[in-house]
Amino acid sequence: MKIALIAHDKKKEDIIRFSIAYEHILEKHDLYATGTTGKLINQETGLPVHRFKSGPLGGDQQIGAMVANNNMDMVIFFRDPLTAQPHEPDVTALMRLCDVYQIPLATNLAAAEIFLHGLERGDFKWREFVKKEERDENEK
Ligand code: PGA
Repeated sequence: MKIALIAHDKKKEDIIRFSIAYEHILEKHDLYATGTTGKLINQETGLPVHRFKSGPLGGDQQIGAMVANNNMDMVIFFRDPLTAQPHEPDVTALMRLCDVYQIPLATNLAAAEIFLHGLERGDFKWREFVKKEERDENEK
């Protein structure tokens, strides 16, 4: 499964703790992240993370493009709801695309923990079927 990890600055500490706590699950998946978030996760856990640009420089949009291409299975996005973000339109656009394409989106730690427990239990297997269906459709 491809998992995107993003955290606004005041939530970076949270995503680091989350990545350390769930490293045993995250290591089984392909991880993608915005620039700074990815760098920190990699530094703190050693997990390989494909890093896009920093969020304010277009990283959220790059992840959004993967969502639009049905090429991202889960988005974990620790938003900071109390601080204005210069790239607010990009943040909104990414969340919107998750809703357009039914991509599971967790915007806080409590939800993200449930997602990872579900992932371990196989609750997200349906994504494989969705992707296979799309591949079969494209081959027609
Ligand atoms: P960053 O971007 O990981 O590069 O800090 C996150 C964001 O602010 O969207």
